[in-house]
Amino acid sequence: MRGVKKSPETIARMKAAQKGKAKSQETKEKISQSLKGRKMPWVAEQNRKRVYSESQKHARSRQRKLEWKKGIRKSGYKHSDEARKHNADAHRGEKAYNWKSDRTFRLQSMQFRSSPENREWRNQVFKRDEYTCQECGARGVYLEPHHIIPLKVDWDKKTEINNGITLCRPCHQKTLGKEEKFAARYTLVITSRLTTR
Ligand SMILES: [Zn+2]
Repeated sequence: MRGVKKSPETIARMKAAQKGKAKSQETKEKISQSLKGRKMPWVAEQNRKRVYSESQKHARSRQRKLEWKKGIRKSGYKHSDEARKHNADAHRGEKAYNWKSDRTFRLQSMQFRSSPENREWRNQVFKRDEYTCQECGARGVYLEPHHIIPLKVDWDKKTEINNGITLCRPCHQKTLGKEEKFAARYTLVITSRLTTR
């Protein structure tokens, strides 16, 4: 049966058969011999690696505590340059505690909003829409240009005239956070404006 995988039932049966039987002196000798020179023979082979590394870890920890008490170790744990670099990398970018996934985006869009290309885009959108809110038809009120496909969804469409629509402030506010819901309709509004002109 050597080398043949035993089923759990078979193993259980074999164990039950051995239970309570005193091992002969010869058997004891054999077992003792085969375990000679092995560290922690009481730990099963498959667990040895884990248990051994655990106990080493505890030993190192005890050692550090001792050094600390004796004043040899000044400040806990000194990281190697490599370890330091690894830690720095591990906490950079999206893993940083203060990471905001849209931080870069917000910075970019802030810069864009105050840029000359944005001013140009906004003027062209207003002009095409004849300075009229395309939602409620209000004129002579404070107007805002709205990105039909939001910057966040398609950054490259930020200066496309046909991705802009003129809205009054209250109408623009209604689109906040619901840009997707409005996108299809506003696209239609703009395309029909373009074709009827
Ligand atoms: Zn309006």
